[in-house]
Amino acid sequence: MVSRLVLVLGDQLSESLSALQAADKSTDMVVMAEVADETSYVQHHPKKIALIFAAMRKFAQHLRDEGWNVAYAQLDDSENAGSIVGELLRRAEQTGAQTVLATEPGEWRLIGHLKEAPLRVEMLPDGRFLASHQEFEDWADGRKQLRMEYFYREMRRKTGLLMEGAQPSGGKWNFDHDNRKPAPDEITFEGPLRFEPDETVQEVLDLVEVRFSNHFGALRPFWFATSRAEALQQLDHFISKGLPKFGDFQDAMLNDNRFLYHGLISTSLNIGLLTPLEVCTAAARAYEQGDAPINAVEGFIRQIIGWREYVRGIYFLEGPDYTSRNVLGQTRDLPDVYWGGKTGMNCMAKAVGQTREEAYAHHIQRLMITGNFGLLAGIDPQQMHEWYLAVYADAFEWVEAPNTVGMSQFADGGIIASKPYVSSGAYINRMSDYCKSCSYKVAQKTGDTACPFNLLYWHFLDRHRPRFSGNARMGNMYRTWDRMDAEKRETVIAEADALLDRLDAGEAI
Ligand SMILES: Cc1cc2nc3c(=O)[nH]c(=O)nc-3n(C[C@H](O)[C@H](O)[C@H](O)COP(=O)(O)OP(=O)(O)OC[C@H]3O[C@@H](n4cnc5c(N)ncnc54)[C@H](O)[C@@H]3O)c2cc1C
Ligand code: SF4
Repeated sequence: MVSRLVLVLGDQLSESLSALQAADKSTDMVVMAEVADETSYVQHHPKKIALIFAAMRKFAQHLRDEGWNVAYAQLDDSENAGSIVGELLRRAEQTGAQTVLATEPGEWRLIGHLKEAPLRVEMLPDGRFLASHQEFEDWADGRKQLRMEYFYREMRRKTGLLMEGAQPSGGKWNFDHDNRKPAPDEITFEGPLRFEPDETVQEVLDLVEVRFSNHFGALRPFWFATSRAEALQQLDHFISKGLPKFGDFQDAMLNDNRFLYHGLISTSLNIGLLTPLEVCTAAARAYEQGDAPINAVEGFIRQIIGWREYVRGIYFLEGPDYTSRNVLGQTRDLPDVYWGGKTGMNCMAKAVGQTREEAYAHHIQRLMITGNFGLLAGIDPQQMHEWYLAVYADAFEWVEAPNTVGMSQFADGGIIASKPYVSSGAYINRMSDYCKSCSYKVAQKTGDTACPFNLLYWHFLDRHRPRFSGNARMGNMYRTWDRMDAEKRETVIAEADALLDRLDAGEAI
C-alpha cells in the first residue's frame, strides 16, 4: 500500500530535497520520469538531455539502495505517459495514492501544471538555496533598485563566508577590480575532468542519439559528471587547480581553450548533485589555507551566493510574464548564425561552435559575444531566451531567463542591469585572441571589412537614444558618438542598416 507519491524532477537530484525529507520511505513511493514533454518544449541540446537522464537514472538507483521504493519511467517505456502530470496520474491509478509531495519546480510552466493537476499536490519550498522567496521579497521590499551587490553582502553576512566578524575578509566586499585581465599567453589549468561514460551513461547516449538527432548539438564525446561522486571530484579538481587563477582570467576568451580557469560546475549544481554552500565552503577553505588568493575566491563565491541566488530571487519575484518582457521592442528573428550558420565573425563562430560541441560557453562568451550581438542586432529577446534555454547543459529557466532577458538583453528595462551590456569590437579584442583570426578588421569602423560589432554598437545607441541618453553610466558613449562628424555618423548608420538587411535576408555576415 502506497500512501503518497514523491515527485523528484530531473533537476532535483539531491538527498536533501524537501519532498524526500518530508516523505516516509516505508509508505511513500518516489516517482521519477523521463518524459517527452520536458525534452521538447524547447529543442534541448542532446548533451543536456543525456546529462539529465543519466544523472536521474543514477540517482534513482541510489535512492533504491537507500531503501526507497522508486517508480522510474524511461523515455522509451511503452507505458510512459509523456508528461510529468501524466506520469503522476498513472502512478496514482496504479497505487491508489492521491497525494503528491513535490518540491517547487524552478519554472513557472511546471509549477502551473502541478497546480492544475487533478491530484492533491503539496508543494514544498526548495530548500537547496540560501535565500527563500520570502527572504528575497523582504530584501527587495521598498528598494528603488535591486542591485545584486547589496543582496550579496546580505548573503555573506548570513553564511559567514569570507567574513572576519562583521567585516569582509581582505577588507573589501568585492575584488572585481583585480580581476578581468585580458587573455593570458599560457593556461596552466588543464580544464575540467572528463568522465568516461559507464554502462548507464552509454545506454542513455544510445537512446538520445536515436530520439534527438534533429536537435542542435553534438552528443559525443560526452564526459559530464552524472553522479554526486563525480561532481565532488570535479569540484575538488577545480578548487585545487583552477580556482587560484579563476579571478584573474574570468572574463578572458581564447580560440584554442574553451574552459580557461572555469570550473564547469553549474551542470552539477543546477541538477542538485552539489549544493551551493558546500561549493562555496570548499572555495573559502582554499583561501583560508593559502591555496587561492582573495580576488579569485571572493569572485567565485560572489557568482554563487550573489548572482546565482539573486537571479533566482528576481525570477520568482517578477512572475511568469518575465520571459516575455521586451521593453526595447526588439523584434528581429534569431539569425542562422546561432544555429551554426556560416559567418565571417570569428568570435560568433567560436562561441556558437563550442556551444554546439560542449553545450557550454563561459559567462563572457554568453554575455559579450552571443548576447551582445543579439542585443545590438535587435533580436527578439524571447527567441534569445529560448535559444539559451535550449543550448546550454546548465540551463533551467529560473537561472537562464534572468540572465538572458534581464542581464544580457535588457528586456526587463533595467531590473538586473543598470545599463545594457553592449560593446564594440574593441572590448572583444582586448579580452580575447578572436580578432586576430577574423575576416573582419576590429580596428575598422566603416567599410566592407569593418567589424559588425563596431557598426551595430553605434546603431544600437542611436536607435535607443531616447531611453539611454539620460543614463549617467552611458553619457560618455553618447558624447563620443556626438563628437563624430555628421557624415561619418551617417555612414555608420547606413552600413549598419545594410548589415541588418543582409541578416534579415538570411545572408551570412
Ligand atoms: C545570457 C546568459 C545566459 C546564462 N544562462 C545560464 C544558465 O542557464 N544556467 C546557469 O547556471 N548560468 C547561466 N549563466 C551564467 C553563467 O554564464 C554560467 O553560470 C557559467 O558560465 C557556468 O559555467 P561554470 O560552472 O564554468 O562557471 P564559473 O565561471 O566557474 O562560475 C562559477 C559558478 O557561479 C555561478 N554563476 C556564475 N555566474 C552566474 C550568473 N550570472 N547567474 C547564475 N549563476 C552564476 C554558476 O553556478 C557557476 O557554476 C548565463 C549567463 C548569461 C550571460
Ligand atoms: S573583428 Fe569583430 S567580428 Fe571579428 S572576432 Fe573581432 S569582434 Fe568578432
